[in-house]
Formats: sequence, structure tokens, C-alpha cells
Amino acid sequence: MDAPAPTQIQVDTDAQTLTVEWADDHSSVFPLDRLRAACPCANCEGKAVEHIAPPDHTASPDRQWTDLDIEPAGSIGIRITWDDGHNAGIFRWDRLRRLQPKRKT
Ligand SMILES: [Zn+2]
Repeated sequence: MDAPAPTQIQVDTDAQTLTVEWADDHSSVFPLDRLRAACPCANCEGKAVEHIAPPDHTASPDRQWTDLDIEPAGSIGIRITWDDGHNAGIFRWDRLRRLQPKRKT
């Protein structure tokens, strides 16, 4: 299944979230520390992460991310430069979508 196109990407360092708005009106809201743990590069082994729940405000994140740089990786996804200097992982749209799919109602 092809993921629908993302229409907007927004980082909120106060809320510690990255929000992806999809063309089909779904929003995926990723807690930044969970997203960092899901880094798909060869070193991080984040590929094992199959699902990221939306933020649970009872849990405090392991650390605060304050300075993220997000750039397009062609048309397939985004590259995130984390403020620990890491930027090897490309988060593909289809993977982001799978990590937090539309809730079935
Ligand atoms: Zn990585």
C-alpha cells in the first residue's frame, strides 16, 4: 500500500512532537524521543520499532530535543538532523505512516 502524501510537517519543541499531516486528513503525532529511537539507519537498529503511539502526557521524555533540522530526502521522506548531531536515518513516508496509522473507527 502506498502511503498518502504528507501535506505538512511540523516540529514543536515545546510539546516535543513532530506532526505529519497526511493528504487524507490523518495526523500522526510522534513524540521526538520515540522517533529518535526509531531511527532507521544501520547503526541505530530502530527498524525494530513498529509502532509509535501519540504522546502520552503522563510520561516525561528521556530528553528534550531543542534544535532539529528537517530536510526533504528526495520525494521519499525526510532526513532529520537531531541535536545530538545524528542525521544518518531517512524516515520514509511509508514508514512514518506505518508507525502511526490512521485509527480505525
Ligand atoms: Zn540512526
